[in-house]
Amino acid sequence: MVHVTELTCTSCGRSYRPDPDRYVCDDCGPVGTLDVRYDLEAVGAELDPDRLARDPDRTIWRYGPLLPAPRGSTGLAVGGTPLYEATGLLSGLAALWIKDEALEPTGSLKDRASAVVVAQAQTFGRRVVATASTGNAAAALAGVAAATPGIEAVIFVPADAPEAKVAQLLAYGARVVLVEGTYDDAYELCAEVAPRRGWYNRNTGFNPYTTEGKKTVALEIAEQLSWRAPDVVVVSVGDGSIIGGIHKGFAEAHALGWIDRIPRLLGVQAAGSAYLVEAFERDEDVATKPPIDPHTVADSISAGLPRDRVKAMRAVRETGGAFLAVDDGEILAAIPRVAATTGVLPEPAAAAAFAGLEAAIGRGLVADSDRVVVVSTGSGLKDVGAVMEATRRTGIVPLRVPPDPDAFTAAFDGGPA
Ligand SMILES: *Cc1c(COP(=O)(O)O)cnc(C)c1O
Ligand SMILES: [Zn+2]
Repeated sequence: MVHVTELTCTSCGRSYRPDPDRYVCDDCGPVGTLDVRYDLEAVGAELDPDRLARDPDRTIWRYGPLLPAPRGSTGLAVGGTPLYEATGLLSGLAALWIKDEALEPTGSLKDRASAVVVAQAQTFGRRVVATASTGNAAAALAGVAAATPGIEAVIFVPADAPEAKVAQLLAYGARVVLVEGTYDDAYELCAEVAPRRGWYNRNTGFNPYTTEGKKTVALEIAEQLSWRAPDVVVVSVGDGSIIGGIHKGFAEAHALGWIDRIPRLLGVQAAGSAYLVEAFERDEDVATKPPIDPHTVADSISAGLPRDRVKAMRAVRETGGAFLAVDDGEILAAIPRVAATTGVLPEPAAAAAFAGLEAAIGRGLVADSDRVVVVSTGSGLKDVGAVMEATRRTGIVPLRVPPDPDAFTAAFDGGPA
C-alpha cells in the first residue's frame, strides 16, 4: 500500500497533491523543492522492525510502505549493500562503519533514487524518463530503465564526464546527450526539453521522489545497526540530495519510534565546489546565494548551484551537524588509504567523505565516543583515471620486469622499487 498523503514545500510549507507534473512549488520556484509526506500511522501499522527482520527481500522495496510507489516492473536488486566495520581505517573512535554503495547494480548510491523514480514514472503512466547528471545518476537511470520493460531513459551529461560513466550509459542503451558545458548547463537543458516532450524529469533537487529513494540508505544503516542509530553519519555533498534523503530516512525512522535519535549529519564538499560550506559558515540564505564556479577532481560533487540545497542545509542544521570542505589533494590521498585498509575502493566523491571525517575529527566535530558511519557513495572503477593519479601521487608504483625469473628476483628483492 502507498501511504503518501501530500507534497509540502520545503520553503513555504504549501501543500500539493502528488500529480505527475508536480515537481516544485508554484510560489517558490526551484528553491521550493517538495517533501513527500506519509500517513506514518498507517505505515507503522504495516511495517516495523520485527516484520522487517522476517522479510527475506534485501532490496529497497522491503521498506515499501515508506515509499511513494509500488515496485512496478523494475527488475534490478537495488539496496541491501553491506555495512562494514572499518576500525582499521581510523583508530580512536568508539566505532566506525562504511556503507559501501559501490555494490549497487550500477556502482553508486544513485540507483536507489532512480529505482524509485522509475517506479513512480510507471504509476504516472510515463514511458520516457530524462535526467541531467554528472554521471552516476545517469548511469543509475540508464541501468534501471534497461531492467524495466516499457521505460526508456534520455540522459544529459557534461561532455567531459568520466569515460567509465559514459560507457555505462551507452551500454545500457540510453539515449545519451553529451552537453558541451557544465553539469549546470546539462541540468537546465534537460529541464527545458523534458516538459515539451512529455518526458518524466528525474533531475536531482527537482523531482521530489529522488529523496525517497536516497532515504533508504539511512533506513538500512539503522536496521543493520539493530536500530541503534549511529551518532554521526558522514557523506559527500554535491547537489545535497543524498544528505537530505539520509536526514529524511532517519527522521521517519525516528518518528515511527524505530530509533531513539537522529544522527548528526556531516556534509563534505570539495574545496573547489563548496557552496554549502560557504553558506553554512557565513550563515547565508541558500534561496538567494548565487551560484559559484565549481572546480574539483570529484566530478560527482561538482555543483555550482546545489539543486537540493534547501533540504541539505536543513539536514545539517536540524541534526546539529556541519558542512566542511576538503581539497582535491586530500580527496585523492584518501582513495588508496581507504582501499588498502578496508578493501573498499571509493571514487573521488566518495573518498571526500573519508577525508572529511578526518578533518571533522581534527576540528573536534567528532568525539572519540562517537559511533560513526561513512557512506562510500560510489565505486573507484567509475573513474580509473583518478584512482591511477591518486596512487601515482602516493608513490605507489608497480614493478616492471621482463619475463625472466632472474630479472624478477633482482627487481622484487632489492632493486630500486
Ligand atoms: C551524486 C553523488 C554524490 C553527491 O550526492 P548529492 O545528492 O549530489 O549531494 C556523492 N558521491 C557520489 C559517488 C555521487 O554519485
Ligand atoms: Zn513554496
